[in-house]
Amino acid sequence: MDTKNSLGNFATDIKYALDATTIIAITNNKGEIIYVNDKFCTISKYKREELLGQDHRILNSGYHPKQFFVTMYRTIAKGTVWTGEIKNKAKDGTYYWVHTTIVPFLDDSGKPYQYISIRTDITDRKATEENLKLTLKRLASTNKELADIKYALDASSILAITDNKGIITYVNDTFCEISKYNRDELLGQDHRMLNSNFHPKSFFKDMWKKIGKGQIWKGEIKNLTKEGKEYWVDTTIVPFLNDNGKPYQFVAIRKDITDRKKVEEMILRSEKLALIGELAAGVAHEIRNPLTSLRGYTEFLKDETTEEEKQQYFDILLDEIERIDFIVGEFMLLAKPKVLNFSRKNVVSTLTQIVNFLKTEAKYKRVTISTAFGSDEVFVQCDENQLKQVFLNIVKNAIEAMPNGGELKINVKNVAGNVTIEFQDQGVGISKEKLERLGEPFFSTKEHGNGLGLMVCFKIINDHKGIMEVESEENIGTKFKISLPIAK
Ligand code: ADP
Ligand code: MG
Repeated sequence: MDTKNSLGNFATDIKYALDATTIIAITNNKGEIIYVNDKFCTISKYKREELLGQDHRILNSGYHPKQFFVTMYRTIAKGTVWTGEIKNKAKDGTYYWVHTTIVPFLDDSGKPYQYISIRTDITDRKATEENLKLTLKRLASTNKELADIKYALDASSILAITDNKGIITYVNDTFCEISKYNRDELLGQDHRMLNSNFHPKSFFKDMWKKIGKGQIWKGEIKNLTKEGKEYWVDTTIVPFLNDNGKPYQFVAIRKDITDRKKVEEMILRSEKLALIGELAAGVAHEIRNPLTSLRGYTEFLKDETTEEEKQQYFDILLDEIERIDFIVGEFMLLAKPKVLNFSRKNVVSTLTQIVNFLKTEAKYKRVTISTAFGSDEVFVQCDENQLKQVFLNIVKNAIEAMPNGGELKINVKNVAGNVTIEFQDQGVGISKEKLERLGEPFFSTKEHGNGLGLMVCFKIINDHKGIMEVESEENIGTKFKISLPIAK
């Protein structure tokens, strides 16, 4: 066996294998490139001619500090192998990373006469690493942002976290301060311990329905402190969902609005007092007329009267008493509103009852009532007697507005979650100036009117979270339009 030959083959094989897999360059001791393999040309995108005779600065990316190359050069100049990772710039300006090993070849005096550098492409690995670093950096900054936001929230708001059953798992200091409970008393409890019984059961039921579905709920809640004092909080509850989309906890952010609520309540009360005062004066005035006639006819009754006259006077007396009773009744309704008796009712059926009730009177006054209800059933949350009162007054007004007869059209439409009831008559209409006074107490253009009906109607519709609008053209007719939210 020819050892020299087989050793020679072995060396060629290694060179071949290296050449095929590695980026190789040889520089002389002045740093000039004297050899590059094909892979070197491919990755650097330079032609061989462009590289030979140059030094490695041609590939400098500017990424590494000067010190980096100084250290490298010092190491190899001493005859020591250097390894490191270098970011280079290719001819087209793109960057690539190479893991680099530089092996100095020494002459007889121990000085390097050339350097062979062996490089592998690590651009992909570096990209991954850099991405990771970037992500980590971003993560760190979001985490910090989150921490900052939490801090700001904590300092400015009343915070609580409950689990999905409503058990309190976290409260901040502000929560303890406002509720006057200490933390230990709150954790493990649910929010019912703060309940003021001000809100109806349905209020909290609706809230739970919403947040249970993963939706944010906002509202104003009146709570009680440990000492039984009332406080109001503007509340936002944010559900946090697990992978199945089910809430696993609720974060409640609250603001103390007790002062604002107090002012609001005061304004409401004073407005109402003003209204009642205004009304009372009107009522007194309105009652004086029937009282005058009551006195007059009672005087007459003392005198000699025929049986027939007596009967006539009694009828008048009863009429006047009824009138007083009516005015006082309407006044009471406003001044001291009964507790409304809300339930889910079919408003079409309520309306039908009123129409049937007034049909005879309408016919007698040559008014036809035509209806287009669209559907037999539209449910609203209402106090049915109050709605009857509204419909009654509007239909009566319409009949009274058509002294020579005509048609009253009533239609019912469903528009975007609301039911709209329209009453269109062909009556005398209302002038612009009078339209503005509609709903004012005792504003009436009728000889025997009392001008309370529409005021009561506006109030009732308002209590039902609805709107009542009026359009009118003189001698053409008037349209009363009532919109109420449909109950599901
Ligand atoms: P009243 O019917 O006792 O006069 P209302 O409050 O019911 O009191 O109505 C106030 C006033 O509004 C009426 O006097 C009338 O001038 C006007 N009005 C109400 N409805 C109509 C209508 N459909 N057409 C014309 N005017 C109307
Ligand atoms: Mg009326």
